[in-house]
Amino acid sequence: ESKRLGRNRWSLFTDDMGRIAGERLRTEEELASAFRLGEIVLHVQPCVDLVSGQVVSAEVLARWLHPKRGLLLPVDFIGVCEETGLIEALDHFVLEQGCALAKLWKKAGLNIGLSLNVSPRQFLDDGFMSALALHARDPDFVPGSIQLEITESVLAEDQDQVAGRLRKMTTLGYRIAVDDFGTGYSNLAYISKFPISCIKIDKSFTETIPDSVPVIRLIQRLAEEIGAHTVAEGIEDTAALETLSQIGCRQIQGNYFSAPIPVTDIREAVRRIERRIATAASGR
Ligand code: C2E
Ligand code: MG
Ligand code: MG
Ligand code: MG
Repeated sequence: ESKRLGRNRWSLFTDDMGRIAGERLRTEEELASAFRLGEIVLHVQPCVDLVSGQVVSAEVLARWLHPKRGLLLPVDFIGVCEETGLIEALDHFVLEQGCALAKLWKKAGLNIGLSLNVSPRQFLDDGFMSALALHARDPDFVPGSIQLEITESVLAEDQDQVAGRLRKMTTLGYRIAVDDFGTGYSNLAYISKFPISCIKIDKSFTETIPDSVPVIRLIQRLAEEIGAHTVAEGIEDTAALETLSQIGCRQIQGNYFSAPIPVTDIREAVRRIERRIATAASGR
């Protein structure tokens, strides 16, 4: 009896593993053609400046419009990208489409910067640096409208190499933000040597208020010390918004103002957000 049960359990287990492996293989195959089929798209999430009451920038976030599984988030496909080398295709796509979008918005008179997530692999890639330099020479493109988000873990690499690359990027006119700050274990000894203009306060802090308040204050203070500003991520309610504002963080990104949206919805989102802030201000 116990033997039979054991065998059944085992076959259930292997069936499950087989199913997961199969799904993964399918994801891999489909992902390879997803770029060509136009299923990978960029969404943008507005970032709001509380002092001016305006949408000042938007973060570009990759999405996969899967024909059968619907809208897929990075968590569903970035891991597969990284393990299969498809991350190169994604990185390339996001940079080219992101820069094209910046040109389009400028032409349309939309004064909103774009923030691009740079993968650790991409940061160290010479092709990426050449592409940045090439775009910077385009007269219709303003590098200052692009912020490159690097993760704290990237700062932990060879200090001189990192500093050199960051300097090249800022010399070309791009701005640098540190994403996921405070969630890694990098050596912060050299942070004041890096040309960082923004520190993003991770969702893991803003969603754990009030416990995280001392750390948020510390990040705000550190940013001020190195001449950077902060952006609070993952803000979903008024309470979190007011806490961040009191601490001195004036830029807010989160579902409270807008979830990530298709790029074609940006004008409507800006109108709605700025009207909402104006109304709140006049009600005070
Ligand atoms: P991230 O750069 O820290 O992006 C912020 C994430 O927080 C986004 O998740 C966004 O949708 C989510 N978020 C924003 N506001 C809220 C909120 O109020 N509540 C909640 N619960 N979540 C909020 P998303 O789009 O799933 O992206 C996850 C991560 O995937 C990003 O984290 C980034 O590290 C990576 N990623 C996304 N797009 C790209 C890309 O094009 N290239 C690279 N290399 N990485 C990307
Ligand atoms: Mg980011
Ligand atoms: Mg982030
Ligand atoms: Mg994050």
